[in-house]
Amino acid sequence: MTDPKQRLDVLRADIERRNPAQPEFHQAVREVLDTLAPVFAARPEYAEAGLVERLVEPERQIIFRVPWTDDRGRVHVNRGYRVEFNSALGPYKGGLRFHPSVDIGVVKFLGFEQIFKNALTGLGIGGGKGGSDFDPHGRSDAEVMRFCQSFMTELYRHIGEHTDVPAGDIGVGGREIGYLFGQYRRITNRWEAGVLTGKGQGWGGSEIRPEATGYGSVLFAGEMLAVKGVSLDGLTAVVSGSGNVALYTVEKLQQLGANPLTCSDSQGYVVDDKGIDLALLRQIKEVERGRVSEYAARRGPSARFVPGGRVWEVPADVAFPSATQNELGADDARALIANGVKAVSEGANMPTTPEAVHLFQAAGVAFGPGKAANAGGVAVSALEMSQNAGRSAWSRDRVEDELAGIMREIHRVAYETAARYDAPGDYVTGANIAGFERVADAMLAQGVI
Ligand code: NDP
Repeated sequence: MTDPKQRLDVLRADIERRNPAQPEFHQAVREVLDTLAPVFAARPEYAEAGLVERLVEPERQIIFRVPWTDDRGRVHVNRGYRVEFNSALGPYKGGLRFHPSVDIGVVKFLGFEQIFKNALTGLGIGGGKGGSDFDPHGRSDAEVMRFCQSFMTELYRHIGEHTDVPAGDIGVGGREIGYLFGQYRRITNRWEAGVLTGKGQGWGGSEIRPEATGYGSVLFAGEMLAVKGVSLDGLTAVVSGSGNVALYTVEKLQQLGANPLTCSDSQGYVVDDKGIDLALLRQIKEVERGRVSEYAARRGPSARFVPGGRVWEVPADVAFPSATQNELGADDARALIANGVKAVSEGANMPTTPEAVHLFQAAGVAFGPGKAANAGGVAVSALEMSQNAGRSAWSRDRVEDELAGIMREIHRVAYETAARYDAPGDYVTGANIAGFERVADAMLAQGVI
């Protein structure tokens, strides 16, 4: 038998050749394949079944035109995507991202990650992702609505509660899910609540879904710190981003007695020596849809805005990258390590570059990869699907308890799997292998499809 590592290296080169100009997808695949050699050594049947070859090829990729008209009557054309990556464990599940950087490689990276993340939740959901290069910044509500309606006019034929269940991601929150759901309902004449998650409460949405990713990322950090005998209470934190994930990361940190000092957007970051005033930040971001620079202007002398800067230069005990991919590089990691960071929990997807991950691990910093640390969002989405199927609405306490249990369990599985494969404390290896084994076993059982 060929050496498993060599075989995976050959496969990786082939994947890069067959999927040119998709650097984020290559990075996501490489990060998983780099950890799988011991699994292939222990389970040769995986190689015989061509599992990696099948896993890296999406079951279906849909690309479509999205024409819409702005408030001045001008016609715009964006591109829409849905990549239905793997349905061995359940219907495709994963968010929609509206951001100018979205292309097929970005959607494939996110969809590929989603397969393993969703498997880790243990909740019977497959992996998918979608979005558009539409930029919602500066667009009126009416423009966003017309865009969402046009997007759904094509997407509706590909999705369904038993087929593919999209949700939010960057640029897609409660407002957009509302417009998308309305158009789906209108076209299909079906009240099919389980076709989208992240809906509003009162029309099928789950308690705690908006909070779930940020809350889960903090809970995961708490679990990693507990292994080291440390509590979040009294620690300082740096958080990047100021969207859905970042806001609720800040909220949960404050609930647990930690002090988040920063937030950011694509123009720069805010550091607030007194700790973030969440009510003010929410007013600016959620109500006014403004920029974090306005927070510093209104908060008073404790806060300042650093244009173009990166939050990672601010000393803190724990770090929560919660904005976007590759936002924390090697120099940022060195700065965090020099300042004594104890744990890093990825609220965003793939925010830490591979070099930075290695630096954290070599320095003994507990590092929670997004597949595990930010799985709380999709986990509560799956709970939303359960509530929709049963036409019921669970209490806030019940959903929050379920979320806490799921995050604990993901941590336990990742931690124990890492130990089983001789990589104690390496949550990247643990999460990749645990997720992979669940999907791989289902694919083995279901034959070559
Ligand atoms: P939002 O759109 O609510 O917020 C995104 C935030 O990140 C904004 O502050 C935005 O700033 C910033 N940002 C986005 N792109 C860039 C960029 N290229 N450079 C610098 N800053 C940027 O998105 P979410 O909070 O929902 O998502 C954040 C991350 O979390 C993403 O990686 C997403 O995939 C991941 N995630 C989200 C889940 C969810 O439930 N929403 C679930 C699991 C993971 P600006 O406004 O200036 O663009």
